[in-house]
Formats: sequence, structure tokens, C-alpha cells
Amino acid sequence: MSRSAPLRLAMVGGGPGSLIGPVHAMAAGLDGRWRLVAGAFSRDPAANRQGAERYHVPAARCRDDWRVLIADEAARDDGAQAIAIATPNHLHVPIATAALKAGLAVISDKPAATTLAEARQLQETVAATGGAYALTHVYAGYPMVRAMRAAIAEGRIGAVRKLSVEYSQGWLATAIEQDGQRQASWRTDPARSGVGGALGDIGVHAFHIAEFVTGLRIAEVFADVSTIVAGRALDDDANMLVRMANGARGVIFVSQIAAGEGNDLKIRVHGERGTLAWSHASADRLIELGGAGGDRMISAGSDAAGVVTRLPPGHGEGFIEAFATLYSEFADVVGGGPHPPTLPGIEAGVRGHAFVEAALRSSREQAWIDIGSDEDLK
Ligand code: NAD
Repeated sequence: MSRSAPLRLAMVGGGPGSLIGPVHAMAAGLDGRWRLVAGAFSRDPAANRQGAERYHVPAARCRDDWRVLIADEAARDDGAQAIAIATPNHLHVPIATAALKAGLAVISDKPAATTLAEARQLQETVAATGGAYALTHVYAGYPMVRAMRAAIAEGRIGAVRKLSVEYSQGWLATAIEQDGQRQASWRTDPARSGVGGALGDIGVHAFHIAEFVTGLRIAEVFADVSTIVAGRALDDDANMLVRMANGARGVIFVSQIAAGEGNDLKIRVHGERGTLAWSHASADRLIELGGAGGDRMISAGSDAAGVVTRLPPGHGEGFIEAFATLYSEFADVVGGGPHPPTLPGIEAGVRGHAFVEAALRSSREQAWIDIGSDEDLK
């Protein structure tokens, strides 16, 4: 990662009380690659001003309307070079499209869109404008997830035969959206969340990490998708069988009604000669069973992990640092470098939506559904 002058970033979303906007702001600044210079943190003027104060952005560079923000920043010589999108899902594509057309790069939170059709439209806009586009599938930024990807690519466990991914949360175990809980309200509303509930919110992370670490496409899904909490309009639990393009089999299950769970993401990949296992709960350890070196615990000093680790082995790094790694790689791209395969882009966004819609259709029709395996992984 090179260390040049910081690039200029504007953010949409991330106002007072929001979840992920502050993480974007911290991560963008962590490696000194980005400086937050402008924003539309909320469409409520008072909340927008509060956001500006919190992020030390001058009030003169804040707009209550993201369309005006993009137009004004694009018109300035010292305007933002990229837009970070940290709003509810339904605004991701409109904001990304406007920014790309105005000549600004985009780093969007997931999911890329609300539907597969909308994600494909955005993919066309990215191609037509030639703009840089990155998607914050944060788990791709964890050092030990990078190490797992590299170990599989090096053949340490041999050809992949089976995988399992679990992503369990419990915060939607009751209908908290009916009490107006802000993050729950929009995530359970199809107009603001999209066609997927838990599938669109955390299923896309589970799907992405599976393809990211194995380097293989998931070709087909057979799903049992449910809405467990009465009265909810979108899915909150999904249990899926998958088939990989190389014939490997797998299980992915995601839930937001797993009462008591926080944010439990686990992945295990079984090859011909061994197993690799990673869990978000012990993020700085990768377990290898069998494999080239017998049973061992790999920690953050290893090569592929080491290049994206900021502290000596044993000093845990997590969510904000993983986000920061994506922001640093995005800075390299905006600075004119190639889009690295470790930085999720629009193809990852399109594949995520293909997965969500295939799972929903599979659950309705009780049939295996093809996800499409002809696109390159990125
Ligand atoms: P949130 O409800 O906490 O925050 C959304 C923010 O967007 C609020 O500040 C709101 O005021 C602002 N906003 C809404 N409409 C706006 C508009 N028109 N103009 C300007 N600002 C506007 O939501 P959240 O939980 O932070 O989620 C935001 C996005 O981040 C979602 O797409 C979600 O899927 C994603 N997310 C990703 C991760 C991850 O691990 N990568 C984690 C959490 C959330």
C-alpha cells in the first residue's frame, strides 16, 4: 500500500445514530489514504449538521440532498474524488449511478442494489463510465480470511470438496421493527431493503466469503427460506444447500432470529487433504487440520495476512481495520492502479443478488436453481 497524499471522500448516510457510516469514516482515515471533506449524512438538515460536526466536515461542504452534494462536489477543483454510500439499500444504486456519471468513484456498502436487475443496470453504468466501484464486503478485508484464500489457492488442502458457512444473528428474533427500531424498520421493509431480508442483509456476506476464499463459483442453490417472526414482510431465516462449479458440495445457513447470537460468522472449507476453518469470534486465528503442515493454528504473521496486518501477531485486528484495508485498496484503484481481486467490485454485487434471487426462487419452487457461473469472480 503506497502512502501518498490523502484522497478526498464524501459520504452519503452515516448521520447521528447510524450503524455503519461512522465505521466508513474511521476506516477511510485509518491508513491516511482518505480524508472526509463533504457529506449528506442525513436528509434531515439538523441531523446533517450534527453529522458534519462529528466528522469535522465544514458545514459549507454539507448538503441535505445527495444529488446536490454530488453535483457540487463534481464541479469543484478540490471536490471529492469518491463517494462512500452508507444509506439504506434502496438508495445505493441511485447514488452510485449519479456519482459515476458525474465522474466520481464509488465505495458502496452492501448489498450493491435491491434486485438482481438493478445490480446488472449498475454493472452497465460502471462499465460505461469506466469509474472505480468497490463494495464493502468487510469480511474480505480480514487478514486471516486473506490467509485462508491464499492457502486454498496454494493447494494446502488440495481441491475443495465441501464447505459450510454459518451466519447467525439474533437481533431480529422479535418484531422490533414494530417498535420503530431504526435499523430493523428499513431492513424489514421491501421498499427500502429489496427482495431479500436476512438473505440480502447477511446472506450476501456469507455467499461472498464462500466464493472469495475458495476462488470457486457457487453454481446452484437449493433453499428453504422462511419468515419466522409473524407479520414480517421479508425472510429472516434461510437454510441452503449449494453446489460449487467444480462439483464441491456445501451448506450455507443465515439467520437473524437466532436469539442470543450477536454476529456469528463461521466458514469451514474441506479439501482432499485437509480443512481450513475461520470464525469471526476469533478473527485473528485460522485453523488448519491435516493439510500440508498437519494440524496447526495460523496467526496474523503469515504472508497473505501479514501484508494487510497493522499490528504484530497476537494483537487482534477486526472490523474497522478490515474496512480500512478495503479503503486502502480502493485508494490504489482511484489512484490509477488495477482493481485487485481482493477488493470486492460490482461483479461481487451482481453475484450476491443472483444468489438472493436464486435462493428465493428455489424455496418457492423447491428445486435446484442455477446461479450462473459464467461471470468472472472479482
Ligand atoms: P442506519 O439506518 O443505521 O443508517 C442509515 C443512514 O442513512 C442514516 O444516517 C440516515 O439518516 C441516512 N440516510 C437515509 N436516507 C438518506 C438520504 N436520502 N440522504 C442522506 N442520508 C440518508 O443503517 P446502517 O445499519 O448503517 O446500514 C447502512 C448500509 O450499510 C446498509 O446498506 C447496510 O446493508 C450496510 N451495512 C453493512 C455492513 C457491513 O458489514 N458491510 C454492516 C452494517 C450495515
